[in-house]
Amino acid sequence: MSNEMIRCENVSFKYTSHEDGEIKYALKDINLSVKKGEFLVVLGHNGSGKSTVAKHMNALLIPSDGNVYVDELNTRDEDNVWDIRSKAGMVFQNPDNQMVATIVEDDVAFGPENLGIDPLEIRKRVDESLEKVGMSEYKRHAPHLLSGGQKQRVAIAGILAMQPDCIILDEPTAMLDPSGRKEVIKNIKEINKEYGISIVLITHYMDEAAEADRIVVVDDGKAIMEGTPKKIFSNVEKMKEVGLDVPQVTELSYELNKAGISIDREIINVDEMVDALCQLK
Ligand code: ADP
Repeated sequence: MSNEMIRCENVSFKYTSHEDGEIKYALKDINLSVKKGEFLVVLGHNGSGKSTVAKHMNALLIPSDGNVYVDELNTRDEDNVWDIRSKAGMVFQNPDNQMVATIVEDDVAFGPENLGIDPLEIRKRVDESLEKVGMSEYKRHAPHLLSGGQKQRVAIAGILAMQPDCIILDEPTAMLDPSGRKEVIKNIKEINKEYGISIVLITHYMDEAAEADRIVVVDDGKAIMEGTPKKIFSNVEKMKEVGLDVPQVTELSYELNKAGISIDREIINVDEMVDALCQLK
């Protein structure tokens, strides 16, 4: 059995520009795989092609060239689409666009209802899913009265209720305030670590990317870097070149090294920086 959840093989995606009618590429020959149980972040600035990659991962878009496989099912084959969407669920940026019912628990039940699942089983899944995102006490509430972070957690519960192997989240925190962002990221991490569900998180926030097992950096439709957060962030110059930030402490260690103070370059949080500074003679 393959340990790959999703595999993008030489994927290009072209579209006709509204501005000049020319054919342009949003993705250029991307190779990328998501391992089973992995927390992968796709990082890139606006317009780099992140969303287009995400949409290929559950057959919302089909490559112009190349192939995408979800659990070895090719997204090109229309007969696979149903299976692909139940294996790889998607959460979008705007929580308000994802609410379909007037009560939280009905909203979470919507996905499994569409899969034709037995009502007793749906009841169980709805309760379990709301529990997993810490929203049980809100099950009879109206979704529009919830905060942005709570709405996104309900959207995640709706996907969990379909029992997917993988969840793809396309900038799920972009419209949230800092506390909502924290809630959602904590939740995503828990779902990954406790239930082994693969996560693909699309983001341009480097603090969110620092939580990943692995990061793929996308720039101008190409996957240009791949590695652990430590490896990626310690490449300060390259990150700046493509318009991305690195954590402040990583930049500090970079500047200290430039100034002749030899300190670990792969520092990505304050605790590591404190340890490294205390060891300086
Ligand atoms: P990101 O998610 O990183 O912001 P996107 O994947 O949304 O980037 O888009 C990458 C680039 O391709 C952008 O410049 C976007 O405007 C363009 N693009 C992608 N698909 C289309 C389309 N169907 N029509 C027009 N422009 C598109």
